[in-house]
Amino acid sequence: MTAGEDIKALDQFLAFAPPLMGREEEAEILAAVRSGWLTTGPRAERFEQELAAFLGSGRGLAVSSCTAALHLGLKVLGVGPGQGVLTTPLTFASTAHAVCYLGARPYFADIDPATGNLDPGEVRRFFSEECAPGPDGRPRHGRTGDLIGTLLPVHYGGHPADLEAFWALAEEFRLDILEDAAHAIGARYRGLYLGHPDLKAARAEGSRGLCAFSFYATKNLATGEGGYLTATEPELLDKARVLSMYGISDSRRIWGRYAPRGTWVYDVAELGFKYNFTDLQAALGLHQLARLTDFNRRRAEHAAAYNEALEGLDDLVTRPEPRPGVESAWHLYPLRLKPGALSKSRDEFIEILRDHRIGSSVLFIPLHYHSYYRQALGYGEGSFPEAENFFKNLINLPLAPAHSPERIARAAEILAALLKKYRR
Ligand SMILES: *Cc1c(COP(=O)(O)O)cnc(C)c1O
Repeated sequence: MTAGEDIKALDQFLAFAPPLMGREEEAEILAAVRSGWLTTGPRAERFEQELAAFLGSGRGLAVSSCTAALHLGLKVLGVGPGQGVLTTPLTFASTAHAVCYLGARPYFADIDPATGNLDPGEVRRFFSEECAPGPDGRPRHGRTGDLIGTLLPVHYGGHPADLEAFWALAEEFRLDILEDAAHAIGARYRGLYLGHPDLKAARAEGSRGLCAFSFYATKNLATGEGGYLTATEPELLDKARVLSMYGISDSRRIWGRYAPRGTWVYDVAELGFKYNFTDLQAALGLHQLARLTDFNRRRAEHAAAYNEALEGLDDLVTRPEPRPGVESAWHLYPLRLKPGALSKSRDEFIEILRDHRIGSSVLFIPLHYHSYYRQALGYGEGSFPEAENFFKNLINLPLAPAHSPERIARAAEILAALLKKYRR
């Protein structure tokens, strides 16, 4: 195909992120329904254990969403009023909402445009320029006086964040780390799955680590809604488990009480939440987990197909390029248009892709562009130039394993032809 020639659309719409469910999931849902366990029960427990075994985390806590996992994670770290959490503006609302739920305040640092992840250099700048050590030696924000004791990096698009650098910062500034791994189930850092307890700020004395995953309908492992929390310290998970089920100290009782040997006795020990994971979700999750490695492999193959089709177009686009030492879960393929290289704007180009039956998305509108966060935090346009540029030129392409390699290859070909056609 050459410029000027008519570029043929796909025969059918290529959805951005459809789930891939099979007969096993269908049969298991039916079996769950017939078993009578509609909420938390034996399948939820099995899923929780099988995922811990897969990740090598030993243990984990399945919950109703990643938002719930983030909320519980921050809560068990003791985050509350008078405190702040440093995170990235290039994320979904959940990440910062979880901080606000606890009466604490989210702070942002800019991203590294190579990966879309929080830039360790900017994190260092935040702590050394915007903060000063308080009486206990821990960082206080210069303007608000908030104690900033927690770092909340997002593994954007499934590409592991620079954990090594964050561990060093955790040691220097005495931080805990809660990872938002909503995109990154099955991603590996130095050969270990994210969520593995050895991936922690080992040298940082007293620095605690948690990792939160999402099973939302579009994520790499989908249960419709769902989330999971792992921790470097088992006590943190114990606390989170109690909080995930109303604050009932032996939460297994709440579902075990309906079993033959169950008892009606329970005690509410604190003000917890209703964040439990159900057997219906687990019915999907058990089989999605069994296929996760294949799913992620196919995502990587789709990404490679886009990269190949876009080779030689570096004057028009920036392709995602994984860093050495990591294995991305390829939740997203963040293509960036080079500013001014095309005769069409990013928004127009998205419409042109749609006209050719290629779905896409833009993840994410930086948090400080949303009216709630503009008002709550006082950040504005220009506060985080790298995140803003990343967003302005961004188009996320379909990577779902539900798509065949042939359809993705065809979409990649059409994309490359369209880029050439609209080269300025
Ligand atoms: C999807 C997503 C979440 C929230 O996950 P839920 O399971 O829907 O609560 C959190 N952070 C990021 C970066 C996400 O993309």
